[in-house]
Amino acid sequence: MTALTVDQLAQIKSDALASLKKVADAAGLEEWRVEYMGRKGVIPQLLRGIKDLPETTRAAMGTAANETRSELTAAYEQAATQFGAVTQRVSGTGKQEAVVGHLHAITETIRSIQTIMTGIGFTMVEGPLLEDTQHDFDNLNIGPEHPARAETDTFYVSGGPPENRRVLRTSTSSVQVRAVQELKRQPPFKIFSPGRTFRNEKVDARHHHTFHQLELLSVGEDVTVADFKGVIETLFSELFGTDVKARLRPHYFPFTEPSFEADLTCIFCDDGCRVCKGTGWIEIGGAGMVHPLVLEKMDIDPQRYQGFALGYGIERMAMLKYGIDDVRLFLDNDMRFLRQF
Ligand SMILES: [Zn+2]
Repeated sequence: MTALTVDQLAQIKSDALASLKKVADAAGLEEWRVEYMGRKGVIPQLLRGIKDLPETTRAAMGTAANETRSELTAAYEQAATQFGAVTQRVSGTGKQEAVVGHLHAITETIRSIQTIMTGIGFTMVEGPLLEDTQHDFDNLNIGPEHPARAETDTFYVSGGPPENRRVLRTSTSSVQVRAVQELKRQPPFKIFSPGRTFRNEKVDARHHHTFHQLELLSVGEDVTVADFKGVIETLFSELFGTDVKARLRPHYFPFTEPSFEADLTCIFCDDGCRVCKGTGWIEIGGAGMVHPLVLEKMDIDPQRYQGFALGYGIERMAMLKYGIDDVRLFLDNDMRFLRQF
């Protein structure tokens, strides 16, 4: 176990994916799941062994092993939908009725994002839902006095050192710093991180305390605002299945400099409608060139490298894609809503 390296882990992953490709039916898929993902399977055993690794490699291998598990889980779930996860339900008439399950609209949206982003060379990274204030705020240049840190905005978890308390992560930006530092990535790199996030919000049709966010980060010697514009135009055009153009308006965020709000041409009209409030543009969220201080926190030389970052709500993407007008519907578990997708 102590000899496990990143290369060997990559080999295990490619073996697992190759063997998954050969699976021909639901029974074969279950065998694959038991071999790799089951309680005594290859991946869980490997994860249990991480704690015995030397301290110097433990964190990096832990992150790499977790990424491997996520990728294999996603591949497994995709295969599971292919073979039709059919469950049997007995109806009141005594006849058996086959009910075919399907993915949640948010999961579908995340899967689409994954396909599009990996297609243009981005790597997916994931991180913990329970974060420390260092990663959730400090590393992103959100200082101790910033209002976002107030308990009225953020869910704090009791216990822990007062200078570095635990929070339910307020964005997926925290993952970026982990992905760069713990795996010692150096530019150029392009990563994205979709995932669940939490804020102490009053729930209404447009706000929820639990939602999902997509974070994009691209860093290199000559990454520019024009690259960013190209990436979001590709992402949203493919996601919405129609050509959209982006425009950028100057704005302020602590973690980017310069910062801007990005808008897309409305996907519902040519000359103004209810969704775009008659402007022909839909606001998609904050973005900008990564602040030099944030690059320094990632151990990247801001004199040599620059990059862009974007944080965007996945619920809002799904609401636009499917024409949904109330964010609460995603978490209500109302079958009449869920069955529509
Ligand atoms: Zn419109």
